Amino acid sequence: MATKLFSLLLGGIIWFSMASVVYFFYHESTLQPTNRRAVFLMIEGESRQENDGPERARSRTKLGSSNELADSEFGQLGRDVPRFGPGENGQPVLLYGEAKERADDTMKVHNFNLVVSNMISVERTLKDTRHERCRSINYHVSALPSVSVIVAFYNEAWSALLRTIYSVYNRSPTSLLKEIILVDDSSDDGDIVEQMKAIPRRVRIKMKLIQTKRREGVAKARLLGAGEAVGEVLVFLDSHSEVNTHWLEPLLDAINRDRSTVAAPVTDVIDHETLEYVESGISRSVFRWDLSIKQSPLSKADLADRHSPAEPLRTPVLANGIFAVDRNNFERIGGLDNQMEGWGGETLEFSLRIWMCGGNVQIIPCSRVGHIDRKETPYDFPGGVESTYLHNVGRVAEIWMDDFKKDFYAALPEAQNKYYGDIADRIALRDRLACHPFQWYLEKVYPSLQGTAQDKLVAWGRCHNKQTNLCVDTVKAGESKPIGVAKCGKGLPSQAFMITLDGEFRWEDLCLDLADYRPGQKLTLEGCHGMGGSQEWKHSKPGHITHKESGMCLDVAGLQTKVLVINVCRERPTESWEFAHYRKPKKS
Ligand code: UDP
Ligand code: MN
Repeated sequence: MATKLFSLLLGGIIWFSMASVVYFFYHESTLQPTNRRAVFLMIEGESRQENDGPERARSRTKLGSSNELADSEFGQLGRDVPRFGPGENGQPVLLYGEAKERADDTMKVHNFNLVVSNMISVERTLKDTRHERCRSINYHVSALPSVSVIVAFYNEAWSALLRTIYSVYNRSPTSLLKEIILVDDSSDDGDIVEQMKAIPRRVRIKMKLIQTKRREGVAKARLLGAGEAVGEVLVFLDSHSEVNTHWLEPLLDAINRDRSTVAAPVTDVIDHETLEYVESGISRSVFRWDLSIKQSPLSKADLADRHSPAEPLRTPVLANGIFAVDRNNFERIGGLDNQMEGWGGETLEFSLRIWMCGGNVQIIPCSRVGHIDRKETPYDFPGGVESTYLHNVGRVAEIWMDDFKKDFYAALPEAQNKYYGDIADRIALRDRLACHPFQWYLEKVYPSLQGTAQDKLVAWGRCHNKQTNLCVDTVKAGESKPIGVAKCGKGLPSQAFMITLDGEFRWEDLCLDLADYRPGQKLTLEGCHGMGGSQEWKHSKPGHITHKESGMCLDVAGLQTKVLVINVCRERPTESWEFAHYRKPKKS
């Protein structure tokens, strides 16, 4: 009996090892024409069919056909149940003394706090940052498409990567989550496969790992992941994300309604020092002529137009690489540009292509995903970060911007005469898909970019007030708070204003607006209406900034309040302003 059992066991082991070998095979890369190869392996060789087996269903929160889901200990699919521990409920972790010093030393490795990241549970709870209105929406999970989540990573902090994986596993309906595909973009240290073995089987069974043969960069690494995906929808995440309660259903719902939609969650901020999970407001993602991406808060008019705070919001571009897209649509439209190097520009290119070639990009306020926000990229690239970035944004301009590329080069002179690679394939793709011209995009999708090209600006940069030695600052713009002045800072986004030839005093997509023409009234930033009136200003050299229709001048209310007001023009120094840059007068 014992020997029989033993031989059965031995047979089992041999059979299992063979199965593992079968799954450990070299996989032909999807990258053409470089024909690079990637190692592809399904950890432990577990077959995919098991994913949906009865055993899985038992070990996970029960799923009905609607989303009437039970809360479990970690709040799987329900709201998180509060727990105690560092970082729980998305709380900040503050370090003191020696621990803080140790943390500071490690900061430069990832540009976020590794000590804190390692202290926090990989299955930490989060506060639900969705609007109240989102919580009563019921999605029919059984009617939603299945999903492959793709996470490309390079030298990622293990604890941050694990939190990404666990949050997806814990907060996605089991029946919809086909797989989590990890693409290790040739990280330098550590045996990833060995480390992955420590992940419990219940999670691992949903995971695939692809390892690139050499460093590919974000776009190509993600493409490799997409090439292996079997889900109907692809969701791309950064390797330092935490998805929040019911993050997936609203994204899938948007795609289900229109397969040409690319749906992005609102990216909440995970603070890079404390790893606090901080709710973000709803904003559109936009870009400037230099192709840098910005957030543009909603104006009062926008807010008035919206039926509900839960309503999806069309956006000119994606803010970052966190988005969901129908897999067939992704393939039809040409995936990501496989000649994008390193990092930067790839999602902008994708966003323009989606819009210009028949799709649309939406922000889904009821889907929340946290992302560790850092000031700078921590890695180096062959050829350097700067030239890689210029190569990539150069491609965007050359492929998509038609004659408007001159406005890009005017705004980013460093990009002139820089190598942007071969674009013939992408131009051919553009022709094949019969995409709209950039002019169409400007008119239909992002009209407020027009009028802000370099040759249409009168003054730009920070706007300094002589008397107070402070600069115009959005402070809390977009929330219909009055605009004010604050300590001047170099290159602060909240102080980057411009005056256009049309007389608009602009910040990103918003215009300085005078609603009430009585002296002493405050000003707000509102959506640009392009009709002059409340938004038309005169200023071409240092001095007064005059509101054309009322004939009054921009003033500072007082040192205490630091708010901008309109006043009868006099020669007060509080009414004297100077922008960092002025248009050179035309030689006649
Ligand atoms: N990444 C990668 N290969 C690279 C550089 C980055 O796979 O050569 C991954 C990185 O680990 C992250 C994602 O691509 O998951 C986006 O990069 P990052 O988070 O640095 O971009 P950011 O959020 O700063 O824009
Ligand atoms: Mn990131």
